[in-house]
Amino acid sequence: MEGTIDRSGELLGTVVAVQANFYQVRLTAEEGEEILLLCTRRARLKKIGQKVMVGDRVVVVEVDDRDKQGAIAKRGAGAIARVLERQSELERPPIANVEQILLVFSLAEPGLDPWQLSRFLVKAESTGLKICLCLNKVDLVGAEVEGEWRDRLQKWGYHPVFVSVLADNGLEELNELLRGKITVLAGASGVGKSSLVDRLIPHLNLRIGRVSGKLQKGRHTTRHVELFSLPDGGFLADSPGFNQPDLICEPANVAWYFPEAKAKLERDNCQFANCLHREEPYCAVRGDWERYEHYLCFLGEIIKKQEILQQRADVESSLKLKSKGTGKEEYEPKLASKKYRRPSRRGDKQILQDRLRIQGWEELTEE
Ligand code: GDP
Ligand code: ZN
Repeated sequence: MEGTIDRSGELLGTVVAVQANFYQVRLTAEEGEEILLLCTRRARLKKIGQKVMVGDRVVVVEVDDRDKQGAIAKRGAGAIARVLERQSELERPPIANVEQILLVFSLAEPGLDPWQLSRFLVKAESTGLKICLCLNKVDLVGAEVEGEWRDRLQKWGYHPVFVSVLADNGLEELNELLRGKITVLAGASGVGKSSLVDRLIPHLNLRIGRVSGKLQKGRHTTRHVELFSLPDGGFLADSPGFNQPDLICEPANVAWYFPEAKAKLERDNCQFANCLHREEPYCAVRGDWERYEHYLCFLGEIIKKQEILQQRADVESSLKLKSKGTGKEEYEPKLASKKYRRPSRRGDKQILQDRLRIQGWEELTEE
């Protein structure tokens, strides 16, 4: 193991876990062997306010403990010297460089509920990340049911991978999709996520056992994210316990999170730029598609939530005014106000912000 570390040069790695001021870094080794290094962060990074997240690609230097004569007393501690530019940054769970979300559902036990599936899909779409939809437990249903779902989901704009963890079906196809990427796993409980992770990462238990004491300590007390190395390269992050993802976004963006509606919007314009695709005349989106009722329902939910937030903000700012007592010049209008009535200008910044946010998922992680 020691031989693969170039002591004179820099080492490249990926942060797989963070705990307090320690970072578990998986070094990028030539052959599949997994080398984990427990690292601190160089003081300089702290000084410039450089945050280090799980998923970050980092440059590590090895720092040895030396005694007074300058001889190496203890080998093998690392320090993160540099964080490479992030390709993406997910807010919740907080992971850098995530490329895709693996949504796992089962065809039976529990059966596939279109509403629940839709809700997860919309939430996942709102991150802007690629989505891999995986339907587990094909062993429990016939080819007919599988075919029906395949056709139905194709109309939704998805091409699911059908697998059975139990019967070892379809897992190579899934492996192919995960290879070399950082993937976040999500899905309702009971669908077989843990079974799938155990299958994809057979040495997982071994790996957890090897994580050093310092990282291990907080494991069951602190909620934290961890990346698990896939055998063929890439990482999987488990975000246990998502139940009913909370939908928070701009109402004007909701339609864009339904691929089948997005296709309509890309083909055609609604008459009104701020169309929410409800009763507005000459709407390109409203119409005869299966999930239109999901769309209306989620949209209503999001608008309602926004109104509640708005009311709360109004109360807060009026309280602030009262407590200051000095008058209106201190009042700063809240930008969040009535955003959804504005035309749906999907500025790049807005899209980016929406995409990089899986807000509300974390609240659901405690079961
Ligand atoms: P999680 O809650 O999503 O992590 O689901 P688990 O991995 O705990 O699995 C829930 C149940 O589904 C367990 O009893 C598993 O044995 C079972 N299960 C997982 N995968 C399959 C499968 O492919 N086929 C069948 N029939 N059962 C499965
Ligand atoms: Zn419309």
